[in-house]
Amino acid sequence: MQHEVVNPATEQVIATVALADEQQTDAAISGAAAAFPAWRDLAPADRARLLRRFADAVDADLEHLAQLEVRNSGHTLGNARWEAGNVRDVLHYYSAAPERLFGRQIPVAGGIDITFREPLGVVGIIVPWNFPMPIAGWGLAPALAAGNTVVLKPAELTPLTAMRLGELAREAGIPQGVFTVLPGKGSVVGERFVTHPLVRKVCFTGSTAVGKRIMAGCAEQVKRVTLELGGKNANVVFADADLEKAAATAPYAVFDNAGQDCCARTRILVERSVFDRFMELLEPAVKGIVVRDPSDPASEMGPLISAAHRDKVASYVPDDAPVAFRGSRPDGPGFWFAPTVLAPVDGSSPAWHEEVFGPVVAVMPFDDEAEALRLANDTEYGLAGSIWTRDVGRAMRVARGLEGGNLSVNSHSSVRYSTPFGGFKQSGLGRELGPDALEAFTEVKNVFFATDA
Ligand code: NAD
Repeated sequence: MQHEVVNPATEQVIATVALADEQQTDAAISGAAAAFPAWRDLAPADRARLLRRFADAVDADLEHLAQLEVRNSGHTLGNARWEAGNVRDVLHYYSAAPERLFGRQIPVAGGIDITFREPLGVVGIIVPWNFPMPIAGWGLAPALAAGNTVVLKPAELTPLTAMRLGELAREAGIPQGVFTVLPGKGSVVGERFVTHPLVRKVCFTGSTAVGKRIMAGCAEQVKRVTLELGGKNANVVFADADLEKAAATAPYAVFDNAGQDCCARTRILVERSVFDRFMELLEPAVKGIVVRDPSDPASEMGPLISAAHRDKVASYVPDDAPVAFRGSRPDGPGFWFAPTVLAPVDGSSPAWHEEVFGPVVAVMPFDDEAEALRLANDTEYGLAGSIWTRDVGRAMRVARGLEGGNLSVNSHSSVRYSTPFGGFKQSGLGRELGPDALEAFTEVKNVFFATDA
């Protein structure tokens, strides 16, 4: 079966990709299982060296990977370069891991007790279309570093950079079967990762609905699972904040990647006493966002991923929606949607509660810290959030009170490869990146050695 890959900025078909069927998926999983013992048993320094070579190959191909992502996903050139660089950096970071997967020596009577961190076997990674490169890298790099072999399924809409990463791995000397990219449907390849007994862990990023289904499927074999799901993140702005900076940065915290970001701060909560001033400052910032052909280096926002997704996003802005103001969008082909600010919003409206996954933000006032926390936490999600205040005590209290895995104070930064990333509540299960990811790709084995004579 073939799938036509479309450039979302031009609506032109740019490639045709063969989709793997169940038989091909089974063959790839068997190949990964066959490659596992040798990869696991490779000297740690050699596994580390191969990962560094893979990182160097990504670096040498960075501009090509970035251009591929601009064409396949409509990401801006600046973002796509960062994303390819992120894959390189994550590989470099975890290339240090094989030689540092320490166990413990625990004092016991009658002998010596040691723990080992053992790899799981074959890991299946399922990637969504919104950040094809980084999300692939966050799974594959720590999984390989810990001694697992990997089968990776990119999203149907955005397979090209993952396929290129597969080629680069082989060119760098990663052995056959250790890292295999399988373009295919979620209902075929993804489902098989869940049901195939040789896949010992599924690492899934995508919608909460599919994540729940995968978790239920994995329960059948008590299969390990990491889930990175949706978000409905709050950006909480207190009256004592640097309002100019808060307003100037708020649009980028939600409209980056055209809002197709699980960390997008899609609910802005502003203390009532500065609400009007904040909106005055926000308007030029939103209207100033450069929405144009993503291959233009000046572009700050590209199109949405598909016509169907644009229709879904548009459904959150019906004709009677309380649009405060909008940014611009180009005419002509492409799945464009102008940055849109809704205010005042009804707390029961879908745009306030559901993940829009597009360039739509809702703004609401609050009266005090307690109300800000109540509103921010009034969601089934718990992924990210921002707090803007100059009061350190308040920043600390609100950071502790917010139910989210990735918070930032006077900043909108959620992702660093060296720090853990993941969600509370229905935003996910487990953590990626940082030191935490290695735990998710290993089992602890405890061994007692009797020393009796
Ligand atoms: P999706 O859940 O439809 O698909 C994600 C991946 O799962 C794709 O590769 C798809 O082919 C596969 N898939 C679909 N059905 C499957 C099944 N039954 N079994 C196994 N695999 C299956 O989501 P999407 O539309 O590609 O991505 C957008 C969603 O992902 C948004 O809701 C967003 O919030 C979420 N997301 C979350 C994070 C995070 O880190 N928390 C990151 C990116 C995206």
